[in-house]
Amino acid sequence: MRTIVLNNERKLNFFDIDSAHVEEKGIILSVIASGICGTDLHILEGKGEICGDVILGHEFYGSIDKIEEGTQVQCLNGHVEVGDFVTVIPGVVCNKCVYCRDLPLNENYCLNRSVFGLNLRSKNGSIVFGGNIEKIFIPEKFYLYKVPKSWPLGLATLLEPVSVAVKAVRKALKYAETTKHRSFTAIVFGLGTLGFFIGIELRKYGVRVVGIDSEKSRRDRAYRNGITDVFSYKEMTKEFYKKYCQNRWNGIKADMVFEAVGKPDIFADTLHFARKGGVIMEVGNFLFSGNAEISPNLICNYELIILGSVLADPNSYFRAEEILEEYVDKSSEVICNYKIEHYKEAFNSALARTEGLKNNLIF
Ligand SMILES: [Zn+2]
Ligand SMILES: [Zn+2]
Repeated sequence: MRTIVLNNERKLNFFDIDSAHVEEKGIILSVIASGICGTDLHILEGKGEICGDVILGHEFYGSIDKIEEGTQVQCLNGHVEVGDFVTVIPGVVCNKCVYCRDLPLNENYCLNRSVFGLNLRSKNGSIVFGGNIEKIFIPEKFYLYKVPKSWPLGLATLLEPVSVAVKAVRKALKYAETTKHRSFTAIVFGLGTLGFFIGIELRKYGVRVVGIDSEKSRRDRAYRNGITDVFSYKEMTKEFYKKYCQNRWNGIKADMVFEAVGKPDIFADTLHFARKGGVIMEVGNFLFSGNAEISPNLICNYELIILGSVLADPNSYFRAEEILEEYVDKSSEVICNYKIEHYKEAFNSALARTEGLKNNLIF
């Protein structure tokens, strides 16, 4: 069974191991594709803590090989059986901590949330399990989401990241104050998977969106997909932004600013791009990546609303499926598939952040 394991030195190695590890009730999934996430890249680049071996991968889907006896399969969108394609909602709550007991409506608050490919350990604690493996055991407690079999190879790995984007947009809109005679405006920093789909989802709500990314290929992709005002960081100086707002937005800065890059300095920048009473949504710095120097005075004087969002909620998967339906006929625009044997190329290209929006490992 082929797998890619990340060791303590953060080096990836290819292994062929014996059999799927079965612990309790659950299903065995033959992984079809596993997406490489920005979070995985941050881990490779040295962010976050790891101890022991890690099989990365929290954005994967596959075909159900076997349902262990007595398993109560929990699927969000209907009944599933052997042979069906499903993706796994990668995180599960503990149901024990004070948040699970008193505030169970937001699963992201759980103090002990286990997530595939990030912190879900085997029983003896020796290895973290994720989707970068040919066959994987999914314990019963994890929710599944059924994937249309007609979708092109690899597209369904995007369900997880797109649902994260959907949730971040929904939360920002909840706090954004409507203003007279104009539709909402937003700036999205970073046009990687998260930023791209945040932009796409904002456009669906009629929000006027500016996208910023240093990579031309990412700006071009955003442009082709309806985010028509795209700029590099170099172009988007403070003077340029002031003029842009005067020409396009009646002199008012953005209602919402999304940080989807994952760099603390960019978060500090976002404060200067929001209007008075504007919303800042921090969604990129999922892992600790350093501190930023900000002026609390700006937050106070501008009455800024600073929000954070992490992971998705199960409901966002339904909306993510609708968004991805539009990419069924142009999946190459958003995904790039690599056979598992070519994992080095897949990771290197993802690290360069120039090629596909989502690089997948295909088993
Ligand atoms: Zn991810
Ligand atoms: Zn909990």
